[in-house]
Amino acid sequence: MRLTKFTHFLLFILALSYVGLVWASAAPVKPFPPFRIAGNLYYVGNSYAANYLVVTSQGNILINSNDKVSVPMLKDSIEKLGLKWSDTKILLISQGHSDHGGGSVLVKEQTGARYMVMDGDVSVVESGGKTDFLFGDDLAQRYEPTKVDHVLHDGDRVKLGNTVLVAHLTPGHTKGCTTWTMDVTEQGKKYHVVIVGGVSMNPGTKLIHNAAYPNIVQDYEHMWHVLKKLPCDIFLGAHGMYFGLDEKYARMKKDASNPFVDPDGYQQFLVAKEHEFRVELDKQTKQ
Ligand SMILES: [Zn+2]
Repeated sequence: MRLTKFTHFLLFILALSYVGLVWASAAPVKPFPPFRIAGNLYYVGNSYAANYLVVTSQGNILINSNDKVSVPMLKDSIEKLGLKWSDTKILLISQGHSDHGGGSVLVKEQTGARYMVMDGDVSVVESGGKTDFLFGDDLAQRYEPTKVDHVLHDGDRVKLGNTVLVAHLTPGHTKGCTTWTMDVTEQGKKYHVVIVGGVSMNPGTKLIHNAAYPNIVQDYEHMWHVLKKLPCDIFLGAHGMYFGLDEKYARMKKDASNPFVDPDGYQQFLVAKEHEFRVELDKQTKQ
């Protein structure tokens, strides 16, 4: 039996809607224009996960590798700035989840960068997510296990060329969740940069009687305490949505002042996120 033209048309529409559904459910990560934030600090992330490149006289420090499929996009962003992928000497992460550390194996292979990870997340990274307290059994969250070259501890300093980054343990989201701070100089003025590691609770996070993470509430409390004390001029984080990347990037072209200098936005972010935590803790305590 021959298919009529109308049947062909129907099949075509069906095929289109199927492809559309698949695209929609996969929520594709889009590239984001790479740009200089301030001083020697650049944004090289995509529309979803944030990456930062710190450019020094001795090579570059990359913060986050993203998931493995996004690594070519990351490399592309760095090269668009006229910088060399092979100059990546040190790789750091915000947290041991796949969207921040899943591509680390590839970054190490291609650049030879030294991978430095906070002690609390080392086993997660080296097991490819298997020992994560929440996602350990979720195969969709696994990634390629990656050897850590240097174990970091709270307050450690990572130095390259004339730049120093400080690793602050801000645990809860993961056991080794790390907030990075550094100073940048722009037109003779010094700015304190804070790159928030992660403050949210993923769906299913147990705050009470969590056998896989007994001190989770103490860790979150420690995190709020640390983050509130950090001096912050330039507010950044592991996801662009934390600090309003889209909106600030759009303003950067028009405004005379740098929209990423946002100490009030940082404090407001902490107030809002801590409130979410308190509400959830209260709910789980009452159950
Ligand atoms: Zn995460």
